Amino acid sequence: MMWSQRLIVPGQLRLEEVPVPELGREDLLVRVRVALTGGTDLKTYRRGHPLFPLPTPMGHEFAGVVEAVGPDVSGFVPGDRIAAVHSGPCNACFYCERGQENLCESLVRTMVLGAFSEFVRIPGFIVRQNAFPMPDSMGFEEAAFLEPLSCVVHGMTHLDLRSVRTAVVVGAGPIGLLYAQLLKREGVERVVILGRRPVRLAAARRIGADVVVDAGSTDGEAAIKELTGGHGADVVVECTGRPEVWEASSRIVRNGGTVLLYGGCKAGTQVNFDAYKLHYGAITLKGAFHYRPADVRRAFGLLVERALDLRPLLTGECRLRELEGAFQDLMLGEGLKIAVVP
Ligand SMILES: [Zn+2]
Ligand SMILES: [Zn+2]
Repeated sequence: MMWSQRLIVPGQLRLEEVPVPELGREDLLVRVRVALTGGTDLKTYRRGHPLFPLPTPMGHEFAGVVEAVGPDVSGFVPGDRIAAVHSGPCNACFYCERGQENLCESLVRTMVLGAFSEFVRIPGFIVRQNAFPMPDSMGFEEAAFLEPLSCVVHGMTHLDLRSVRTAVVVGAGPIGLLYAQLLKREGVERVVILGRRPVRLAAARRIGADVVVDAGSTDGEAAIKELTGGHGADVVVECTGRPEVWEASSRIVRNGGTVLLYGGCKAGTQVNFDAYKLHYGAITLKGAFHYRPADVRRAFGLLVERALDLRPLLTGECRLRELEGAFQDLMLGEGLKIAVVP
């Protein structure tokens, strides 16, 4: 048996003793060493999730040590330190055939949840595509960033940065801070972060944003106009998932620029954009979701290179039984990511 956090109803977790997952021939079992809280976990905690019937196990960003392997697993043996994401494409559906594995039809259905547990089972199709042995230099906390970083690496593939001088990241949460770092790394001259919570604004400064705008106390749209001589930003990356911020993002991009709509809004959400500006301003609005195996490999490479400063994104650590308190703190805006150490 093992301990596992389950969401019973929205807003209520329960630490339960459940059987350790059984392994198929190609699966492996990971002893979770670190699981990170992510935006999706928080959203699910707050309002449930249409695709995950309750009660549901939770947690999808993790790293750990291989505890056991099925007879047909190659490449891993018990004791290996492992970094993995919680999904993998089927490689056979309509979207996979078109190289858009991030939209794979079985992706969501076959996702592995339950990283907020002592053990998690990684099915063969993930082991083969999206799991990596960790080098000695990599810590479990860093390795657990593989999943959110893969999402961000994928989002970056939608941006043509050749003529970009000013990029604005809207939202100073963990995802926004990862985008900001990758934009800097890709050579963007000025990366501006718009955020609200003091702890997040401080983290934005620590990771090296060129300009940090407190959108709680100043008019963010006016600030961006001023910084860009009235033109607007070349690129805007929306990382809040709030419809009013989606709309505002379309107002702070310059003509000919691109808005990457990364933060997912609730199903059924409608937004309004200025059709005149979109057309005559030749604005690109681009959605981004999830990642392909190529993005996961690239993200893992960035972790191996230690290309990013991840420390400012981690604002706490807790034990499995303290998870609910951690969620409550995060919902109050008092932190970024919490490392859950079972
Ligand atoms: Zn597929
Ligand atoms: Zn995530």
